[in-house]
Amino acid sequence: LARRNGGSQLIEFDNEMAETEKRWLDMEVDMRVAQNKQQFYLMYQPKVASQNGALRGVEALVRWQHPEKGFISPAEFIPIAEQSGLIIEIGEWILLQACRQTKQWHEQGIKDLVCAVNISPLQFLHIGFLDTVEKVLQQTGLDPHFLELEITEGVLMHEVSKSTEILEQLHNKGLKVSIDDFGTGYSSLSYLKTFPLDKLKIDKSFVDNITSDDADRSIIKTIIDLAKHLNLIVIAEGVEHQSQLAQLIEYGCDEIQGYYFSKPIMPDELNTFINQQKKSIASLVNNQ
Ligand code: C2E
Ligand code: MG
Ligand code: MG
Ligand code: MG
Repeated sequence: LARRNGGSQLIEFDNEMAETEKRWLDMEVDMRVAQNKQQFYLMYQPKVASQNGALRGVEALVRWQHPEKGFISPAEFIPIAEQSGLIIEIGEWILLQACRQTKQWHEQGIKDLVCAVNISPLQFLHIGFLDTVEKVLQQTGLDPHFLELEITEGVLMHEVSKSTEILEQLHNKGLKVSIDDFGTGYSSLSYLKTFPLDKLKIDKSFVDNITSDDADRSIIKTIIDLAKHLNLIVIAEGVEHQSQLAQLIEYGCDEIQGYYFSKPIMPDELNTFINQQKKSIASLVNNQ
């Protein structure tokens, strides 16, 4: 009986695998269509100064509006795009779109705005990556100082020498680089001083529990101290509450990103956000 049970569980498991695989294949096909039919678009989440909420930059986040399935999260489709190699094409489109938009914002008077773009590991290590970056900057006329790339620590640690080379070239071009989801991968801390980096992004999972969990609070404090000693800017992602903000300010975190200040927004909403922040900064000053 036990064997039988085990057997049927195995079949169930096989079926599940087959289904997952099919869903992936379906999605891969849909993604190819999506690119041609312009179902992808970018939203932008503001990053602000922790002290007063002034805009410091934005992060481009890709969105997929599927005609039948509705909204599909990037957390779901980006890994599949990676698996199939489609991320190279989609990633280039994202980079182009983000740079074009940032250039447009500059022309509209939002001067000095820095835009961060997420770069997947495969894309980062791809042979044509640096050329793609160069091409997109030329095509859009965006000054490289206003482009920041967000990379997760895993890729840097797996491919240390190749990553160092790429990071150095990006740095020489004047781009900024930040480590995304910092603290969730296995960083070898000594590499942090050899990589030319600008910023560490503390992962949301630590921020979630900053007011309730002593261990997470210690980790955050340690990351902030580490960043200061390495002369890196430190930003916390996923900040939703005033109490989280207060704790991060106390520890000296430079920048904040999260629903507390703003969800990701459409490009034409950025001016409204800036004006709203200016008003709240003015009232802060008046109340002092
Ligand atoms: P990420 O780069 O760490 O981006 C942060 C994610 O947290 C975003 O989710 C953002 O909307 C969400 N978030 C920010 N603040 C808050 C908050 O206060 N509360 C909550 N609950 N969530 C918050 P999103 O846009 O769904 O993206 C998920 C992940 O998908 C990203 O994580 C990134 O790894 C990947 N991704 C998104 N866009 C792109 C892209 O253009 N290219 C690549 N390669 N990956 C992308
Ligand atoms: Mg990111
Ligand atoms: Mg992140
Ligand atoms: Mg994250």
